[in-house]
Amino acid sequence: MTKSKKRTWHQHQGLILETKNGFDVIDCSLCGFKHIVPIPTPEELEKTYKHEYYTREKPLYLERYREDLDWWNMVYDERYEILEKHLSPTRRRILDIGSGPGFFLLRGKERGWITKGIEPSNQAVLHSQELGLEIANDFFSKETAKKLGRFDAINMSLVLEHLPDPVHFLRIAYESLDEGGVLSSSVPNDFNPFQNVLRDTLEYEPWWVAPPHHINYFDFSSLRKLLERCGFEIVHQEASFPMDMFLLMGENYVGNDALGRECHEKRKRFEMNFIKAEFRELKQALYKNLSNLGLGREAIFFAKKKFY
Ligand SMILES: [Zn+2]
Repeated sequence: MTKSKKRTWHQHQGLILETKNGFDVIDCSLCGFKHIVPIPTPEELEKTYKHEYYTREKPLYLERYREDLDWWNMVYDERYEILEKHLSPTRRRILDIGSGPGFFLLRGKERGWITKGIEPSNQAVLHSQELGLEIANDFFSKETAKKLGRFDAINMSLVLEHLPDPVHFLRIAYESLDEGGVLSSSVPNDFNPFQNVLRDTLEYEPWWVAPPHHINYFDFSSLRKLLERCGFEIVHQEASFPMDMFLLMGENYVGNDALGRECHEKRKRFEMNFIKAEFRELKQALYKNLSNLGLGREAIFFAKKKFY
């Protein structure tokens, strides 16, 4: 396909990077990040979200979380440690937006945090409540945010890529934080250098492009700019394991769930071995440096609401 065609949709304008399911992914000069056009309407999104509910209500979803729980708790502990480093010890109120089965908040509670979650999936909310967590069964919006109250930290894992208006959403999150509060956010790191090698020289279809389920396609640079535009100051960035590396090693897990699971096991083992060997700082430095190269399956940012 030609890579130099431009597309304009309302005020949004940019080069077309991919076309899939009737949508173009453009590198939008208005927004400063890549997203699909047309941007789906709320009605269209409702259908997509229904699919998301379905995913979260599949028994396998919970089963895998449980299987991976030791590893997840290691990931969560690292996340809490960074939040705790940037907040005074009396500031421990956290909101998890899209809290899923609740394991992230449960870990926080065990560490002494006052936790609240908001999650649209009924099944995930029921599971969280069984864990003794306080979760609102809803979408995060201006209205629901008011009822939730104010926080010292907000976490959103794999949320921003699904939203038709991430700027609006981040501004609501900003308002829900007290001054000096910290946001932690992870998104898929898309069109990253490893993926580009796979697409351009190994004839991989861009499997990470998934409209309308994924509307936005961030990387380290565009997510940083977006957070800064919404009033945040970045205090830390890191990558998650570059899963695309398995593909470069010839393990084609795309569309192969069993192989995907095997690769995931290897990644888990790799990371847990650093912890066992008490070489955690080395792992953290490695993932921070990967992020400086634009590598990693996910881009993870910690950003502070500035004091005025
Ligand atoms: Zn745009």
